[in-house]
Amino acid sequence: MIQTLPKGYDHMRKREHRIYNPAMECMDREQLRELQGERLKKTVKLEYDNVPVYRARMDAAGVKPEDIRSIDDLKYLPFMEKTDLRDYYPFDLLASPKKDIVRIHGSSGTTGKPIVSGYTQNDIEVWSEMMARTLTAAGCTQEDIVQVAYGLGLFTGGFGGYQGANRIGAMVVPMSSGNTQRQIMMMKDLGATILCCTPSYATYLGETIREMGIDPEKDLKLKAGCFGAEPWTEEMRQRIEQLLCIDACDIYGLTEISGPGVAFECLEKHGMHINEDQVIAEIINPTTGEQLPYGMPGELVFTTITKTGMPMMRYRTHDICTLTDDKCACGRTLARMGRITGRTDDMLVIRGVNVFPSQIESVLVGAEGVAPHYMLIVDRVNNSDTLEVRVELTEDMFSDTVSHIESVRKYITGQIKSVVGIATNVKLVAPKSIPRSEGKAKRVIDNRKL
Ligand code: ADP
Ligand code: ZN
Repeated sequence: MIQTLPKGYDHMRKREHRIYNPAMECMDREQLRELQGERLKKTVKLEYDNVPVYRARMDAAGVKPEDIRSIDDLKYLPFMEKTDLRDYYPFDLLASPKKDIVRIHGSSGTTGKPIVSGYTQNDIEVWSEMMARTLTAAGCTQEDIVQVAYGLGLFTGGFGGYQGANRIGAMVVPMSSGNTQRQIMMMKDLGATILCCTPSYATYLGETIREMGIDPEKDLKLKAGCFGAEPWTEEMRQRIEQLLCIDACDIYGLTEISGPGVAFECLEKHGMHINEDQVIAEIINPTTGEQLPYGMPGELVFTTITKTGMPMMRYRTHDICTLTDDKCACGRTLARMGRITGRTDDMLVIRGVNVFPSQIESVLVGAEGVAPHYMLIVDRVNNSDTLEVRVELTEDMFSDTVSHIESVRKYITGQIKSVVGIATNVKLVAPKSIPRSEGKAKRVIDNRKL
């Protein structure tokens, strides 16, 4: 299915909406709910019959597989948490015999001890399909050359990109992350058209490309990128699009639910379509666990309905966003999730005020005189929380007058205060003094937790 793109990044080329699997991606929503209900029933039975942890939890909640008759009964099922994956590490949540598990992936460990997930061949197929849809939505076809600069290994990013491109029949360049100079040389020599990596690495690549005197419009063939695995802002998107002259699409996923591609943006770039024939998404109130209606912000919860290796029942992601099933101009009927505005466990509470790093990023990326490389340092001094916002000056501003630099600092301090509501200590530092990220960026140091 192909339609003309009415808006988005089109300063160079007009894009078309491409859909990998219209039967699933454009299904009537009532029919989709029925399909979800059928698949949910099957999955719950698989879990109850094969995983003692699920059986015990459901028994404790007084729910039997036969009580789940449609998707409306989802709310009776118990939640799963990341701690469960640690407690039942590595194999106690498998719903299939170990001999049927063909792959293991693990979380990058950014939030503590590693957790692993086991995939059957079916699960690899499900995930490849989700990633094929993701790449297609960003414009990828069999003609394309996909440079995968997500880490290839236990982390799901690299394999996800590889499998999706492979399913489409595109040419894959499995670079993995890092080795930036070689990455750029290959990108240029091979004529990569699609880039997959974290948004922080895309920024780094873009800046390095510019520093090397390479003109992305003339010297490179890149047209789009699928960037995710970490939170980023609309301002960051614009910066990446300008640096690389591409469409930058957001892509979401997590190891527990497969990996990247659970949800993806089409070229409309206003929310990520969720692969709802494979997963059911809910938004809940993180305190009470109650389901919230579309449009309300809350914690995202996923239930897998096609996975057989390590299916997940109502998995609490701790990611905060909203859902919508408003029509999308691309033609897909799959509901969309908005940008992740934070994680319930990433939220900083500074002197009683809730602060999300993304709020600060949105100020910094838009501000004159500073580069979007920053670090937030939280501390406690005399029993009071402090938040230092360390951000790099641009090369130009760094050599400017002290008074001009001070006026930039004051301006940013004021902007942050108006967005988050509290005073912060803004420190402008030299260009390139904040470490660059090749994978997931680490942007908060909370010394109160040490
Ligand atoms: P972890 O980072 O916990 O070790 P994963 O590598 O599986 O484990 O990462 C999953 C998490 O990464 C998600 O729960 C979410 O917080 C974050 N994430 C993934 N994609 C995005 C995205 N597009 N936007 C914001 N956050 C994302
Ligand atoms: Zn769309």
